[in-house]
Amino acid sequence: MSDSPMIVVHGGAGDWLDGTATAVVACIRAAQEGAAILDGGSALDAVVAAVRVLEDEPACNAGTGAVLTANGTLELDACVMDGATLQSGAVACLPAFPHPIDVARAVLEDGSYHLLVADGAAQFAGERSFRPAAPDSMILPERRAEIECPRSGTHAGNTVGAVALDGAGRLAAATSTGGIAGTYPGRVGDSPIVGAGTYANAKRACSCTGAGEAFARACASFWVAECDGEDPQAAASALLQQLRSEMSATGGLIVLERTGRLGIARTMASMPHAIATLGNPVVSGT
Ligand code: ASP
Repeated sequence: MSDSPMIVVHGGAGDWLDGTATAVVACIRAAQEGAAILDGGSALDAVVAAVRVLEDEPACNAGTGAVLTANGTLELDACVMDGATLQSGAVACLPAFPHPIDVARAVLEDGSYHLLVADGAAQFAGERSFRPAAPDSMILPERRAEIECPRSGTHAGNTVGAVALDGAGRLAAATSTGGIAGTYPGRVGDSPIVGAGTYANAKRACSCTGAGEAFARACASFWVAECDGEDPQAAASALLQQLRSEMSATGGLIVLERTGRLGIARTMASMPHAIATLGNPVVSGT
């Protein structure tokens, strides 16, 4: 048993400071929503609820407000993993559905597959009564402008994620993103890949953000979760330093351990985040 249920939420690592304050406020709301569920509920429910809040926040790159591909389309990725059962569910290149994390959760509950993509993911969502949105209702004008005039050499970030520990000692992780603005259609980063951008086991849960190709190649979240001899903060920092020095890749991650120890690290200008424990004020940062 754990006597310290906790949720940690991130709003993505990025080079730009625009929108950081809004993302911090959204992270606080998401952490509060997750913490309310942890008062008797499961870590799995808490991370899904927290990510759902951030998918509704237009400042975040997930759900409404997500970035666009080079073709000007939405391709949404999300993953959720239950550390207690090692079950997971994910979607990638999902078209306009407001809450990709709910579809990922349905993939987990279904249990047949770990990942569904594109049209198949949309068909699966439709069969489970998730309603697609009109793409224009989820696309912000600034996202269209971004692919017309990209800011060279910078990464906007704002992918979202959450890790939680519940009162029964169970861990869960969830991540949701529109990917990286202006990338080739069909490109999938680390976020929806188990062990890359999202991972949870009985000991640790981790959600990553940043240059997805490098995080995937490094099996980033799996590495941090399995590195259990090392303090989670030290493991998070070591991995990010290694990604920067060996792959010229930057980003950030959050990791939570069953003991209640956590790690929050970034190698970009900011990573809005919030931490909520039961009965205490939410702690936030960038
Ligand atoms: N990791 C995400 C991806 O590569 C992007 C991000 O976190 O900003 O799709």
